[in-house]
Amino acid sequence: MATAKPLYQQLTQQIKGYPPEEAREMAFMLLDHYFGLRKTDVLTDKPLPPNRTEPDWSQIVNRLNRQEPIQHVIGTTIFCGLEFEVSPDVLIPRPETEDLVRLIMHDFTERTDSVKILDIGTGSGCIAVTLARFIPQADVMGWDVSDEALAMARRNADQLNADVTFEKQDILNVTDAELRKFDCVVSNPPYVTRSEAAAMDRNVLDYEPGLALFVDDNDPLVFYKAVADFCTRHLTKDGACYVEINERFGEATRQVFEERGFRQIQVYKDIHGKDRSIRATF
Ligand code: GLN
Repeated sequence: MATAKPLYQQLTQQIKGYPPEEAREMAFMLLDHYFGLRKTDVLTDKPLPPNRTEPDWSQIVNRLNRQEPIQHVIGTTIFCGLEFEVSPDVLIPRPETEDLVRLIMHDFTERTDSVKILDIGTGSGCIAVTLARFIPQADVMGWDVSDEALAMARRNADQLNADVTFEKQDILNVTDAELRKFDCVVSNPPYVTRSEAAAMDRNVLDYEPGLALFVDDNDPLVFYKAVADFCTRHLTKDGACYVEINERFGEATRQVFEERGFRQIQVYKDIHGKDRSIRATF
């Protein structure tokens, strides 16, 4: 009977151009995705499912060896324990963003009254959908400028039974939102400057959407200014704004909020000790 370990070893050997531990991690992800085998199942050499349909391994390995992100190859990623569909139309959800979502959950789960949440630049919908799933009283809306991203976000919300309203909006030019108020505005906007992009990995540059990633060097905080301006008009007085940020602009981004009348502004670091997110309240 075919077992997991030989296949795992074959895949780790065939996946080239990555550090060995990354190749091993990818092989684990493939066995989990296609056959539902966890790391421990692989390491204890469990049998492969007898009625399995074998994917085209050589095609999968070729795509990985061309630096295509594994999340695109398998079509999904895990974010806060939920499985999201991803494609080249949306940013692949990152672990740093899980921290931002956990911070919001920590702040709002105890609330008994309804919490209106807006996710600006929702992409795959990972932030909006996770908050809708884990904050019982949440009433969540997600905005994006991209029709393709909105379609993906809607699919993810359906798949994960999350009640989120998605709407096409450009935060730089918001329309028909005059009367809306939110208790929580969250955004992970594009924040990598074009000059920083040169140093990024091929798997990001060649396969992920520039629209979700990059900003011009001459105004790298453009989206934070727009989000903070929006909040001055649309955040409830006890509300809070949460943003993921470029580590180089922690202080500058803090000032964007301060200049717009926010009084309590905290800058949080990521697991690498870099400024990665901000919570701002009035
Ligand atoms: N942290 C992401 C990256 O470096 C960028 C996310 C973003 O631009 N919002 O790939």
